[in-house]
Amino acid sequence: MAEFSLQLNEDQQQLQSWVHEFADTVLRPAGEEWDEREETPWPILQEAAKIGLYGMDFMAQALMGDPTGLTLPVTIEELFWGDAGIGLSIFGSGLAAAGIAGAGTPEQVMEWVPQCYGDADDVKLGAFCVSEPDAGSDVSSLRTRAVYDQASDEWVLNGTKAWITNGGIANIHVVVASVDPELKSRGQASFVIPPNSKGLSQGQKYKKHGIRASHTAEVVLEDVRVPGACLLGGKEKLDARLAKARDHQRTGEKQPAMATFESTRPAVAAMAVGIARAAYEYSRDYAKERQAFGKPIIMNQAIAFMLADMVTEIDASRLLVWRAAWLANNGGYTNAEGSMCKLKAGRTATWVTERAMQILGGYGYVREYPVERFHRDAKIMDIFEGTEQIQQLVISRAISGMRIE
Ligand SMILES: Cc1cc2nc3c(=O)[nH]c(=O)nc-3n(C[C@H](O)[C@H](O)[C@H](O)COP(=O)(O)OP(=O)(O)OC[C@H]3O[C@@H](n4cnc5c(N)ncnc54)[C@H](O)[C@@H]3O)c2cc1C
Repeated sequence: MAEFSLQLNEDQQQLQSWVHEFADTVLRPAGEEWDEREETPWPILQEAAKIGLYGMDFMAQALMGDPTGLTLPVTIEELFWGDAGIGLSIFGSGLAAAGIAGAGTPEQVMEWVPQCYGDADDVKLGAFCVSEPDAGSDVSSLRTRAVYDQASDEWVLNGTKAWITNGGIANIHVVVASVDPELKSRGQASFVIPPNSKGLSQGQKYKKHGIRASHTAEVVLEDVRVPGACLLGGKEKLDARLAKARDHQRTGEKQPAMATFESTRPAVAAMAVGIARAAYEYSRDYAKERQAFGKPIIMNQAIAFMLADMVTEIDASRLLVWRAAWLANNGGYTNAEGSMCKLKAGRTATWVTERAMQILGGYGYVREYPVERFHRDAKIMDIFEGTEQIQQLVISRAISGMRIE
């Protein structure tokens, strides 16, 4: 077990300042442009890949080379401090990679995860496709179907996925589909859809409130045929799991989408901390400069105390994120700590960015200043990877041991 320490080790400190430098010099100056363009910032992804910040090697090192679990949240906080939309473009593929790593065999991980990233000369993306138009929080009611064709050893997938980060433009789509609808979430499995598979297309691209540099779209699957080897974990394991579920036995395994979301919650919460810190720092510096009634506005307790509350909430959120990230690597959650950090950090980002707008007054409300964008970018943190209410549900079930509805 790694020791839990609030003192980052030397490697982590170095990484933190290296990522901060990239966020400060590349992401922050580009944030406004890509927000307006509402497009994936391919040149920035390329730059990130060139310096080794976007890619399988970085993720593997951050995840496996770090027993404390803190390296990933530290990296993510810095990038999202730079810009959340571009940050999500850089980290969106990580969710697909986590889906593969969580459910796949070691061979599947080695084959498919690198293809979620490509390389510096040919950058690629991954997409993790769970949500549907009629199934967001209620993942058990997914309608996308995967049917096995024994004659050809292929799976045939049909359905529509909604709200998919990198949907339709990704090289690798990881799709969660129902194999046996009667078993609800216990009858679901994850599939890799290889590049250029026939029948997979992009539906509508959403025009969003925030994180607009990150591409979000529907993914339509029409008779998409994939080889048997694309079933993550393999058929034998799936058959055994389904047999147990039909027998009403506990399989001991988590439903695939839920397992992925649980493992990525501290990472998403770290995104929220990064946005909140950006807004706090900007508004603090602004309050020291801006004069009203003959003195800097921070000289008023009303403003200074707001900033004191903002930084306190941010630090509290980061501590919860670090605890959850450490636990995830050292024995696992005992009391829904992953959900706690996501719940707290999402709320903090939304509240802090709103307060930052208040501190900037009219300048907080216009696009000339970044605080308006920070505020738009923050709200998604209460929504995706499990809404506020879903995190509350997970926590309340953990603390009660009862099936709270
Ligand atoms: C920008 C963006 C990117 C996304 N990226 C991805 C992605 O890459 N992959 C992916 O699979 N999905 C993605 N999502 C989908 C996201 O995870 C869902 O939007 C989210 O889970 C909520 O689902 P929903 O929108 O269907 O809302 P609903 O589930 O319909 O919820 C609506 C409201 O009801 C509440 N509610 C629902 N059930 C309960 C309950 N039991 N108790 C109390 N309240 C409840 C919710 O909290 C919410 O307030 C993305 C969404 C967005 C907006």
